[in-house]
Amino acid sequence: MIHLEEIRKTYYMGSHSLEVLKGVSLDIFKNEYVALMGPSGSGKSTLMNILGCLDTPTSGKYILNGSDVSKMADDDLADVRNKEIGFVFQQFNLLPRLTAAENVALPLIYGGIGKKERMERALEALRKVGLAERSQHKPNEMSGGQIQRVAIARALVNNPSILLADEPTGNLDSKTSVEVMEIFGQIQAAGNTVVLVTHEEDIAAFAKRVIRLRDGLVETDVTKDSTHNVMA
Ligand code: ADP
Ligand code: MG
Repeated sequence: MIHLEEIRKTYYMGSHSLEVLKGVSLDIFKNEYVALMGPSGSGKSTLMNILGCLDTPTSGKYILNGSDVSKMADDDLADVRNKEIGFVFQQFNLLPRLTAAENVALPLIYGGIGKKERMERALEALRKVGLAERSQHKPNEMSGGQIQRVAIARALVNNPSILLADEPTGNLDSKTSVEVMEIFGQIQAAGNTVVLVTHEEDIAAFAKRVIRLRDGLVETDVTKDSTHNVMA
């Protein structure tokens, strides 16, 4: 599903430059649940932004579902992003004046989908995160964990093939973090591919595979001996 080959990323700031990714190669397969870890500044967000087609690598190849997105123009990249990617951020980025359902439906407006269908699909996405009954509430009427679940529902509303989350529990207490991680687990069990960044070991323990970045390279990449559920 995701194939990265020798991905490099250099930021240029005037006469100064900083190479953040120094040749990252990895594959992520359909329906994997991956945690990306590493020290602060090791390039986790940079890599996530590339995976999410929010940014392009300086060099290297990124094949997403069979197409080479590393050399795409911005318009095509935006297209891929809208169709394939759901992104959840640490800052929830909900609009305060909109209800949960309206926030979740937002990405569908750009797809030109009519209001009735937008609301139906928003409700369906809210149901997936266990929040259908909160659909008419605004963010300030919800807890941090509920707000993050609304953000997850928004990321799911386009039925993306891959869900990316950059420190999704960074602003949550540990009990709420566990609830949010369980939601990601359910989403993965329902057939999605999930990649999330965390710096907390106990959060990463929810994932089946842990990739650690250090100094712009993959340091370790460990998949748990899985007790695969053959019935799934
Ligand atoms: P992490 O998410 O692992 O903490 P980041 O990918 O955010 O790491 O950042 C890696 C390095 O790249 C840091 O030194 C950061 O300051 C730098 N960096 C990130 N984004 C930019 C940018 N847009 N321009 C310049 N430098 C950046
Ligand atoms: Mg980061």
